Amino acid sequence: MFEIIRRDGLARIGKLETPHGQLETPALLPVVNPRLVTVPPRELHDVFGFQALITNSYIIRNDPKLNARAKEVGLHEMLDFPGTIMTDSGTFQSHMYGEVEVKNEDIINFQREIGTDIGTVLDIFTEPDWSKEKTAHAVDVTMDRTIEAADLKGKMLLAGVVQGSVFEDLREDCARRLALVDVDVHPIGGVVPLMEQYRFAELADVIVASKKGLDPSRPVHLFGAGHPMVFALAALLGCDMFDSASYAKFARDDRFMFPEGTASLADMKGIHCHCPACQSHSYQEIAAMKPAERAALIARHNLWVSLEEIQRVKRAILEGDLWELVERRCRAHPALLSALRHLAKHQEYLERFEPLSRDNSLLYTGPETLSRPIFLRYERRFFERYKYPDTEVMVAFEEAGKPYARHYQKEMADVMESCDAHFFVASPIGAVPIELDEMYPVAQSLFPEPPDLQTKERIREQMEHLSHEHPYALGVAWDGQATIDTLMMMCQKKPSFDIDLARVRAVCDYQFGKGAADLLLDGKVAIKKSETTGKIRNVLVDGEHILSMRANDGFFTLRPPGAMRLKKGFDAPKLRVTVKDDSIPFNREGKNVFNAFVTECDPEIRPMDEVMVVDQKDDLVALGRAILTREEMFSFRTGIAVKVREGIKL
Ligand SMILES: [Zn+2]
Repeated sequence: MFEIIRRDGLARIGKLETPHGQLETPALLPVVNPRLVTVPPRELHDVFGFQALITNSYIIRNDPKLNARAKEVGLHEMLDFPGTIMTDSGTFQSHMYGEVEVKNEDIINFQREIGTDIGTVLDIFTEPDWSKEKTAHAVDVTMDRTIEAADLKGKMLLAGVVQGSVFEDLREDCARRLALVDVDVHPIGGVVPLMEQYRFAELADVIVASKKGLDPSRPVHLFGAGHPMVFALAALLGCDMFDSASYAKFARDDRFMFPEGTASLADMKGIHCHCPACQSHSYQEIAAMKPAERAALIARHNLWVSLEEIQRVKRAILEGDLWELVERRCRAHPALLSALRHLAKHQEYLERFEPLSRDNSLLYTGPETLSRPIFLRYERRFFERYKYPDTEVMVAFEEAGKPYARHYQKEMADVMESCDAHFFVASPIGAVPIELDEMYPVAQSLFPEPPDLQTKERIREQMEHLSHEHPYALGVAWDGQATIDTLMMMCQKKPSFDIDLARVRAVCDYQFGKGAADLLLDGKVAIKKSETTGKIRNVLVDGEHILSMRANDGFFTLRPPGAMRLKKGFDAPKLRVTVKDDSIPFNREGKNVFNAFVTECDPEIRPMDEVMVVDQKDDLVALGRAILTREEMFSFRTGIAVKVREGIKL
């Protein structure tokens, strides 16, 4: 059973229950070669803190001594490792050496007999240079074997491998078929050649295609991803588990791994590393060691560095800056940067998991930042949902300081003295109406000054798009007093723009959907502001408190009277999560909604969206924020679907 603890987009921190304890993900599983142990498994567990390792059941089965020992005392005692043990099946050997002499049924039974926690199907390793026809056939064989293995697995967890070479449709199809089989973990297989050849853009395609088809409630393991360079990118795309044989392989070639890449001892001028393996040794000492001793030291260094990177990725998921980490890491190598640029192709898919807002500000790291899904979100919601105020003219400011309305307070007042004007800011986020200036990520983002060429181009495109759409009689770019002089000559109507009301309206539509503002604000509107910050706090309509605005991200939390208005105007399932009857008394008490009790959910809901929890008759039960998407709520059997803020008592 797998449960999500925290998520950021597709990336997640989770817990996988195994027969030998809980495995927290993202997790790195060091590969232990039972015939050539570089770092003893006990040390991996006790000193490094690895909760799981992976070893090869095919090698154990083919070695008479290991075979007998594993059957006699079991895998955990044989390796002296108390944590979770995953085993591979011989598929990788078939990739390295051609055919393997074992049947799927036999290797599954063997893995179960020796007490492995997570056994793996003998899938067919689909090579990147295979034809589509050959690959499709291999996927069919892999599927037959997975179905066979699911019947034989017993209490062992089973890893069903996604194959399909570099064909995205075959990967997605394989993943969809696997989702229907009783499998517990999904490795993405056949990707080692892509990583060895630095074909990271194709790797990203393969991961995304697989994720599209898989059941989100099962952890995804990127088979053979053992270099810390790729952990952040793979985690961003939804990989939960990694395994490393590279730590030992690289060490035997005197190669040190770092998140920025690999360095050969011969090329290094010093060690300059303070990991527990390196810290008490000088470069000269390490260079003078016997090869086996040196390999053991470098292997430990490689493990420490890999482990630290996994921790760094976890921290980024918790703190909401994984995109920044990935963008920085992908600058380690041009091939990784290609992969990062390539993610623009998957913007649409990634947007479905993009949270409404994050605790951290969006920091620009380079032109690739502009392809993050949040930019697509803004663009789409602005052009689909935004309702222009009914003013005569529009003045466009350049972005010069945030929040915009405060920065341009005087200029706006000067213009509005004589003109019926509204204001836009040409921002890297898009063409931003002045009243959306406090909303995430408009206020909570930082770009370098002056903007680089790509950012300038984006701003130009967005403003041009706006200029074709806007309904004003006149649109002008701000040019100081000259603008005021021009407008004074041309304007006919009296000033009408009310920024507070406009702010409430614009955020309502952006957050809850087109037309939400009309539903929510139908009546006499009163806006209460904070005396200290001057920011909007509460919105009342006809004396009822309908909305509160959050200071950190500029979005609203719904109050019950506001929810009633939205519910009346928007048909189910919009903005709703419907729950079973037995959940209702708990949710009315303010307790969270668990996935097992969800019967319906708005497919447009994004993580951290405000939602209405309703019963089967569409009566309001509670208000809160969605943690998962609809598909995820239906897929997970445990965990929280909606974090309830307020129960509606009868
Ligand atoms: Zn080190």
